[in-house]
Amino acid sequence: MEMKKKDIRALTKDQLREFFVKQGDKAFRGNQVYEWLWQKSAHSFEDMTNVSLETRQMLKDNFVINHIKVDQMQRSSDGTIKNAVRLHDDLIVESVLIPTATRTTACVSSQVGCSLDCKFCATAKLKRMRNLNPDEIYDQVVAIDNESRLYHNRPLSNIVFMGMGEPLMNYNNVLKAIDKITSPEGLGMSPKRIVVSTSGVPKMIKKMADDEVKFKLAVSLHSAIDEVRTSIMPFNSTFPLSDLRESLQHWYSKTKNRITYEYVVWEGINDKRKDVDALVEFCKFAPSKVNLIEYNPIDDGEFQQADSKALDMYVNILEANDITVTVRRSRGKDIDAACGQLANKS
Ligand code: SAH
Repeated sequence: MEMKKKDIRALTKDQLREFFVKQGDKAFRGNQVYEWLWQKSAHSFEDMTNVSLETRQMLKDNFVINHIKVDQMQRSSDGTIKNAVRLHDDLIVESVLIPTATRTTACVSSQVGCSLDCKFCATAKLKRMRNLNPDEIYDQVVAIDNESRLYHNRPLSNIVFMGMGEPLMNYNNVLKAIDKITSPEGLGMSPKRIVVSTSGVPKMIKKMADDEVKFKLAVSLHSAIDEVRTSIMPFNSTFPLSDLRESLQHWYSKTKNRITYEYVVWEGINDKRKDVDALVEFCKFAPSKVNLIEYNPIDDGEFQQADSKALDMYVNILEANDITVTVRRSRGKDIDAACGQLANKS
């Protein structure tokens, strides 16, 4: 019976160098192969043309390269692209390319499904099947970078962890992927162009601050009133706003990085004056800004986007309190690629 081969990309560069030394080869061979695996994103050992045939065969006997495969690519009329990505165990996640005049942003997944239970999110209905490993996250970014060059004639400029899953529930792998993305031996992107978006896991926000990460933080707030937030994001009863607030203050004191709050205004849920006032108070705890995002309906109309009067009220009151606020339009709605719509529908 054949032994289960190891995923070669689970090895660090040093481990790869050691492997070659043990095989009686030069440590330098490890650097070469590492470069193929990461910088050049080789899909097979055959691609490694500066490595001898014999060595390539030896690698094939010992390892596999579990590369993702873009199963289906859909393009929206607004230039947005959605990839259905097949993993080595045939599970599927989705990632999205969002072009604007000045940037191309990759929206990537961190888990297959999601363990949180936000009532307004399509991914929540899938439950969590497993965490993505670092190379599965990295590969999504490479695939989008290639599509950006091909269809928009420019490299990828930004990354947001706003696809499927809760990145802070898969923190170690997300961090390893970001290390690769930002390393000159990977894609060499600046961490300032990466946003990790979380529903708000206080313990992990503190850990991230203590780890002195260099990327940016967005929090899906949606309400600054506990009862309201718990009704739409039930896990808020486990991580109440007071804990979240404290972790965000810790984040700011350590990183000096302003926080972005993502916020949808729904009719009859958080469209009243008291909701805005609570948000204003919450924003005062640490330097922050607010992104008002458009709601993308996911099913039977339990949730309705509030009307423009409610949105105007939010904008006016936030601005009167010197809080930066932007209103973000959704992209890629015709292909179910917008926020909260990723649910492997096709
Ligand atoms: N779990 C992470 C990242 C994935 S969600 C998080 O919660 O931040 C990415 C963003 O889309 C979050 O701000 C989320 O609140 C928002 N979102 C989810 N469902 C949505 C929907 N139907 N319409 C608009 N935004 C939605």
